Amino acid sequence: MQVTGLRKSYGDRVVLDDVSLSIEPGDVVCLIGSSGSGKSTLLRCLNLLEDIDDGVITFEGREISDPRTDPREVRRRIGMVFQAYNLFPHLTVLENCTLAPRHAHGLRRRAARTRALELLERFGLAEHVDKHPDRLSGGQQQRAAVVRALCTQPTLLLLDEITAALDPELVGEVLDIVRELAAGGTTMVLATHEMAFARDVATKVAFLDDGRILEQGPPSQIFTNPREERTRAFLRRVL
Ligand code: ATP
Ligand code: MG
Repeated sequence: MQVTGLRKSYGDRVVLDDVSLSIEPGDVVCLIGSSGSGKSTLLRCLNLLEDIDDGVITFEGREISDPRTDPREVRRRIGMVFQAYNLFPHLTVLENCTLAPRHAHGLRRRAARTRALELLERFGLAEHVDKHPDRLSGGQQQRAAVVRALCTQPTLLLLDEITAALDPELVGEVLDIVRELAAGGTTMVLATHEMAFARDVATKVAFLDDGRILEQGPPSQIFTNPREERTRAFLRRVL
């Protein structure tokens, strides 16, 4: 995916300003930056959940920022997991995981179940498949939410602070899944406040400051040798 010159305002407030970012297959791009810097808005723009005011987004060779693009078609190829409230409470874990494959991707019930069960097992959720989300810990719920996103076999996964609402002791098990996906070559863009994690798994880190990507580069550069004073100030606060 390539993002070029992306601009987004709410009313007269500019929240993304001339954002350019390239996401190559296998990349794990970590968006870091203060609260309100635009990380979630950027993720939502990539998934066409927000209208953009200017700029070009290309994905799989197509300009998806073209107003004629069907956003549902794009979202079938891009998975997204949010901070909380990801799962449908009235469905079991397995039903959560087969819903989109069956209804948006036209998979037969049996094929959807087989795929979901395989992934749920792989990520340690085999014993929870028939439970409703409220029977699961927060960490298990978020793991199930990631698995649900994987069940549609997205070519890009967007993760918006998926550990931010968790008790500290549950954060690790969710990050472990992301780590495993990263090792397996899943292309991801994630907004995170987990700096140690970003440093560890990111192929690229982008620091957002007031709607702009102030600098981006490999984690070794951003975390140890940032060019911008504002990046340094941010890292001093959070590290
Ligand atoms: P956090 O770390 O707290 O999640 P963020 O970096 O994800 O912050 P965004 O949620 O993208 O930041 O918000 C960027 C700016 O856009 C903020 O100033 C926010 O108040 C504003 N904003 C976000 N959503 C809307 C909306 N629907 N309407 C108006 N303003 C919005
Ligand atoms: Mg956010």
